[in-house]
Parts: sequence; structure tokens; C-alpha cells
Amino acid sequence: MSEHFDVIVIGGGPGGYVAAIRCAQLGLATACIDDRTGADGKPSLGGTCLNVGCIPSKALLDSSEQFHRLEHQFAAHGISVENPAMDVAQMQMRKQGIVDSLTGGIGTLFKANKVTPIHGHGRLMADKNVAILDTESGELRQTISAHNIILATGSIPVELPSVPFDGQFIVDSTGALEFDRVPQRLGIIGAGVIGLELGSVWRRLGSEVVLLEALDKFLPTADANVSREAARQFKKQGLDIRLGAMVEKVNATPNGLQMVYTVGGEEQSVEVDRVVVAVGRKPATQGLLAADCGVSTDQRGFIEVDDHCRTGESGVWAIGDAVRGPMLAHKASEEGVAVAERIAGKPGHVDFNLVPWVIYTDPEIAWAGRTEAQLKEDGVAFKSGSFPFAATGRAKAMENAVGMVKIVAHAETDRVLGVHMIGPHVSELIAECVVAMAFHGSSEDLARIVHAHPTLSEAVHEAALAVEKRAIHKFG
Ligand code: FAD
Ligand code: AMP
Repeated sequence: MSEHFDVIVIGGGPGGYVAAIRCAQLGLATACIDDRTGADGKPSLGGTCLNVGCIPSKALLDSSEQFHRLEHQFAAHGISVENPAMDVAQMQMRKQGIVDSLTGGIGTLFKANKVTPIHGHGRLMADKNVAILDTESGELRQTISAHNIILATGSIPVELPSVPFDGQFIVDSTGALEFDRVPQRLGIIGAGVIGLELGSVWRRLGSEVVLLEALDKFLPTADANVSREAARQFKKQGLDIRLGAMVEKVNATPNGLQMVYTVGGEEQSVEVDRVVVAVGRKPATQGLLAADCGVSTDQRGFIEVDDHCRTGESGVWAIGDAVRGPMLAHKASEEGVAVAERIAGKPGHVDFNLVPWVIYTDPEIAWAGRTEAQLKEDGVAFKSGSFPFAATGRAKAMENAVGMVKIVAHAETDRVLGVHMIGPHVSELIAECVVAMAFHGSSEDLARIVHAHPTLSEAVHEAALAVEKRAIHKFG
């Protein structure tokens, strides 16, 4: 007889491992199957996020930011350093150390919570049986079963058919996190979140970076003022962002790689040394579902689920990047917790309207809720107030007085409907606003809450005051 669990989770990323831990906390006998192998040849839990996504990218963003500051901003503080140099091998070793400690930490959390980790490739069969295949040979090793199954297999990079990855010169985001030296000329296809973050890393270390973006509009889902300011700041940093540029192919030349693209039907090209393809990600569902398992995918390969992450098969759930909604680690984790609680008979819930978005460039970009453009489209009357970091003492003292906070509230009820930020540490500031919105707070609530001085959070306070045109430190 096959081994039986209360819950089997397939995928050990921020969706899957969090779901597994929460299931175990709720007293359910839980196994988590993950197929990822680390650089050391050992199983490596944590999924895309910990291994090749959120964490290593933030480690490199931090290293490169330190270097950039040293080269360009320390002088303003009266600090001078002769011949600063970047040791890329050391930077990569630091990054790997962080990844190893966090991925290893999940193994420890599993042990502490009595989650059974299984290294292998999971395949959902009929009647909630799961076949475990060897990650190398693909051979069937074992079949296990459970009352409930959570599919959390995440996503993989999209490859452009005309620009195939070669693992060295034309790479995906994983390859761009592993360069062993700073490319002199770096081409990035796609100026979305991942393209901008990776472009920032290598630009700060000295690469000439060109980003080719098919859309005419820069960061179209962000607030219009935020994306305008971001474009201005990135241009100042030397990121060459070309909009309306559809990459058609990449040719090898004696001097490197020629990226051929069209703008308004006209062919243009640019020569680079390495190319990063950052045109989005697709669900990792290939080979996951046996024909008779009862779970269906949509045309793009996403597992079909309802608002509660239920698939069409009773007792089979799906979460994270493999299902509809934003491909964000915290969205995956919250879905994981909610599903675990529903399995245990509790009222798990995720407020999809309040998932914060963050882009970890410099300045950082963060938002939650709806933009003014969306509200206009939905016919909702609103009022808004904004406040620049240039008028906050703390940002000035940090030599980082760039960007602004904008708060959008309902015209009549004053309920906060959206908050949009660009500036220093806004990845942290957005949390206060999400809390306010989750409690159905108004701009008046934020305006009446005491904010410490001098802090960056004063920009949130002043933006809330600005909604009723009573910001203190702002002209007009
Ligand atoms: P994943 O993290 O992809 O985990 C799924 C796991 O399941 C993987 O280990 C996979 O190998 C395994 N798996 C797949 N199929 C099977 C199978 N059949 N059997 C067994 N195992 C299987 N998000 C943020 O919120 N903030 C960020 O700053 C951020 N930065 C990012 C930077 C980069 C460069 C990238 C690429 C992504 C970034 N993301 C970020 C997105 C984030 O990584 C994902 O949204 C998140 O990892 C999704 O979690 P998940 O659990 O759904 O899937
Ligand atoms: P994201 O979805 O945030 O990862 O961003 C990916 C970006 O890549 C999107 O803005 C797409 O418009 C862009 N993109 C997709 N295909 C191409 C292409 N062939 N050339 C240039 N940009 C592209």
C-alpha cells in the first residue's frame, strides 16, 4: 500500500513550503515534494524565490548599491576612497551564502514542524495519488497519496523562440544573477520588474545597459507620476530604456551579439556582449498533471482555480505562480496559508485587492490598491494628495531625497483606495498603508496618526494631509 498523508504539497517555494508548515502547525500529517537541486548537488528548498529570484536578486542589488554609493555618493559626505574596485567573485560568494543559509533554514523549519520533505518530481495521478519521479532519470520511485493535495509548482522564465537561451551569452534571469564578471555591454529584453532590477545591478557595477521594451508605455501598471519619475531617474543613472522596441532576433557577430528590433515597423539594432531575456514567466505545469487527475489548465498553462484556490477536483488545491494573479512570493505564501486553514476547516482568506507590489530599484517603487487611471476607468470619484521626499528632513539627511508618496482616497467616504510611492525604502513604507487599507482606513486616519520625526514615514503622513490640501511642509 502507498504511504498516505493528510496533505501532500507539490513544490517547495514560498507558496508550497509555507503551506506545508501551516498544515503541519494545524496538526495535519504533511509531505512536501520539491525537485530543485542546489549548486552543491543537494536538494534545495525555497523554490524560485530563495534560490534564483527574490533573495539572490536583492543580495546583488544591495552589493551593487553599496558600490554605486561608494563611487558616486560618498564624496558628498566628505568620504573619499581611492580606486574602489568590485570583486565580483566575492559578491557572488556572499549572495550564495545568503541563499544557502535561507534554503537550509527551510529544512530546519520542516524538521521542527514535522513536515516530511521528499526530493523528486511530483506528478498528480487519479484519486489523489502522487507519483514521485527521480529528478535525473525520470524513473518512478514511489507513489504516495493524501486526502488533500496542494499544487505549488511555481513558474519558469519565458523563452523567445527567436532568441533561444545558450546558457552563457543569451541567458534568463537565473543566468543574469550568475555572471562572473561585469559585462561591458548588456542588452536586456523586457523592461518589466525583473529586467529593471537586473539591469540596475549590472549598470551600477559599470555595464552599459540597454533595455528593449515592446510596449510604448513605461511601467504601465504603476501610477502615471511614479512611472514618469522612475523613467527620469533610471535615465539619469544611465539605463538606456528604448520603448516600442520589439526584439525580433539576436545575431552573433565578430564583436558580440547584435540585437535586432523594430520600432514603428522600422528595423534597428544594437550591439552588446550579453543578452538577458526578461520577457515574463510561465506556469511550471508541464508533466505535472496526468490526463485523468481531474485538474485542468487554461490556454497559457495556468492551473484553473476559483477564488479559494480550489481546482475542479475535490481536495486538490493550487496556489502561487502556477495560478492566476500576480507572480509574487507574498501572494503565493498567503494563498498557501489560506488553503492550509481551509483544509483544516478554518476560514482562510486572502484579500487580492491588497497585495503590495514592490520594485527594488533605486529609487524603490511600491504600491497597493488602485491607481487614479483605474479609478477613472471604473467611474469612481476620488481625491488625492502627494508629498515629495525632497521636503522630508530624513531623506535629505540620507542624501536620498528623491521621489514622492501619493495617497488616493474616495471622494466622499475618504477611504484610502490606493497608495503609490517612489523613493527611499518605500518597500517598507508601503506596509503601513496596506494595514490602513486593510482596516478600511481613511486619509483622515493616516493624517491624524502621530509619525516619528525625522522619518521617511512622514512623507506618508504629509501625503495624507495633502489629500485635503493641508500638508505642512509643502508649497501649494
Ligand atoms: P516557486 O518559487 O517557483 O517554487 C516552485 C518550486 O516547485 C520550485 O522549486 C520548482 O522547482 C518546484 N517544482 C515545480 N514543479 C515540480 C514538480 N512537478 N514536482 C516537484 N517540484 C516541482 N517576488 C516577490 O514577491 N518579490 C521579489 O523581490 C521577487 N523577485 C524576483 C526576482 C527574480 C529574478 C525572479 C525570477 C522572481 C522574483 N519574484 C519576486 C517572484 C517570486 O520568485 C515568485 O512569485 C515566487 O517564487 C512564487 O512562488 P511559488 O511557491 O508559487 O513557486
Ligand atoms: P514582466 O511581465 O514584468 O516580467 O515584463 C516583461 C516585459 O517584456 C513586458 O513589459 C513585455 O512587454 C516585454 N516583452 C515581451 N516580449 C518582448 C520582445 N520580443 N521585445 C521586447 N520586449 C518584450
